[in-house]
Amino acid sequence: MNENIPLSDGNSIPNIGLGVFKMPAGETVELVKTAIRSGYRAVDTAAMYGNEEEVGEAVRASEDPIFVTTKLWHSDHGYDAALAAFDRGYAKLGLEQIDLCLIHWPAPARNLYVDTWNALIRLRDEGRVRSIGVSNFGVDQLERLVRETGVMPVVNQVELHPCFQQRALRAFHAEEGIATICWGPLGQGRELATPAIIEIAKKHARTPAQIVLRWHVETGLIPIPKSSNPARQAENIAIFEFALDADDHAAIAALDDPAGRFGPDPMLLGN
Ligand code: NAD
Repeated sequence: MNENIPLSDGNSIPNIGLGVFKMPAGETVELVKTAIRSGYRAVDTAAMYGNEEEVGEAVRASEDPIFVTTKLWHSDHGYDAALAAFDRGYAKLGLEQIDLCLIHWPAPARNLYVDTWNALIRLRDEGRVRSIGVSNFGVDQLERLVRETGVMPVVNQVELHPCFQQRALRAFHAEEGIATICWGPLGQGRELATPAIIEIAKKHARTPAQIVLRWHVETGLIPIPKSSNPARQAENIAIFEFALDADDHAAIAALDDPAGRFGPDPMLLGN
């Protein structure tokens, strides 16, 4: 079954979660509940996804503890704005404590992410959120947070999939004890037709999505695949009863392309 990965603040996070960006409105409560029944123990939402209420409703109905991540949007950068935005998300989720809150994007042109980070530090110190982290941050921005606040994020959630493996950033994360959460882990579905992935899938009698997600988990990464299809949700978490071998890892390592990003460049977004 899925395990937990320790975080540098003493907490821990499930090693796979459910992404809920663009889940059909009106179906999200039921889809999160089916995912929990399939074995997911973590859900990744954000203020920007507009579905924190639905996620909260499904999580509150679970008998098992579910790790909930949410994120603050660009328009909520700044100390006071971030505190107010957290309050809004907190009310929508309806949970006693949020497990993890992230700054969604650094929005460097706004130059407010250090103030936003100070707000998250306060919320953590007050016990309203267990762990705090960032998303789409680069090494320079992580270093600036520590230099100016003394607190390193415990996670950085970034675009990461076989064709964009972010090796330099991962090496920095490893040195600093930052856990790597991967958005777009399936390349938003596009990487499932990659011949090398299909070949490995045939060899193990698994699906391409299972191969890619198993690669993330074996690499120590935390994928948060999204699917609005209950059968695919179940497929995406049924990755704990087989293992990749060294040849599989070598074949996937060879897919890495430093220019393989398909999402926005974090240095340019949010201005
Ligand atoms: P993803 O790589 O998870 O791809 C999702 C798509 O892949 C689905 O819409 C579906 O078309 C396809 N898919 C899923 N399971 C499949 C299967 N078993 N077989 C075939 N196709 C399948 O991409 P994503 O949704 O962009 O990322 C996942 C989550 O990451 C999001 O839901 C969200 O929670 C988070 N996210 C965060 C950021 C950020 O800036 N922090 C950005 C984007 C997404």
